[in-house]
Amino acid sequence: MGREHHARLPRTRARFRGATGAALFALLLLALAAVPAGAGSDGFRNDGFRSDGFRKEAARAVRAHERARERVDRLRESDASRTEVKDAERRRKAVRAGLWDLLWASGRHSGDPVAVDPSGQDSRCPFGDRSRPPERRAHPWTAPTRRYWLSAGYAAKGSRWAHRHTGQDFAVDSGTPVYAVGSGTVRATTCGDGFGNQVVVRHRDGYFTQYAHLSRIDVRKGGRVTAGQRIGLSGATGNVTGPHLHFEVRITPYVGSAVPPLPWLRRKAVQVAGAPALP
Ligand SMILES: [Zn+2]
Repeated sequence: MGREHHARLPRTRARFRGATGAALFALLLLALAAVPAGAGSDGFRNDGFRSDGFRKEAARAVRAHERARERVDRLRESDASRTEVKDAERRRKAVRAGLWDLLWASGRHSGDPVAVDPSGQDSRCPFGDRSRPPERRAHPWTAPTRRYWLSAGYAAKGSRWAHRHTGQDFAVDSGTPVYAVGSGTVRATTCGDGFGNQVVVRHRDGYFTQYAHLSRIDVRKGGRVTAGQRIGLSGATGNVTGPHLHFEVRITPYVGSAVPPLPWLRRKAVQVAGAPALP
């Protein structure tokens, strides 16, 4: 994913020379000053270097992107002209690009901002068998694990999180296989921060999926994965109260751009069965 990531840099740098850049930088300083103490149990507080104002701005952009995407979908299903669809798609991408720049800028002090902590690089991660050939599956999309029950859901509020929960938790024993939900490229493998050992995959539709708290990682950064390919084993690394898979769907690789994961999977004809999310 280096291509896409680096392609963005000149634009970001250009912005930083302008007034927008100065405003963003001030926001970043504010965010850095607002580091909360303590760590949550589920990898959420580790993005605490971002202020509430920043968080709200990112959340607004995420919602704006989802509205823009829905509009594109509606137009595609209607008799709208090609130009209308193209314009709507251009607007959607512009919203995403703004958010991408914002999140990238906020995390750049820690190296690769996919890892929200400087220690979250992948040189010391517990890698397993990374030479497995891609597996072929009939369905293009699948659930990220099997034999689970759904614990904390997206946007759940609780004492365990500084803010709302950004993913869907799948309660499974440690050592349960974790699968890529669709084909794509491994954007990051990191360890050492609140998400523990994590994998981030970029899919062809432009969305990213994140798999956190793994006990082992079976893929390499830059490697291709297919739907249902095992990418690691579940675990209890990072800030957790017990073993589970934390799964996110994001519109950029970065923390702060997550969308509701179960509706996203449902749109891809993946029914996530199990008990309703607990509070
Ligand atoms: Zn979680």
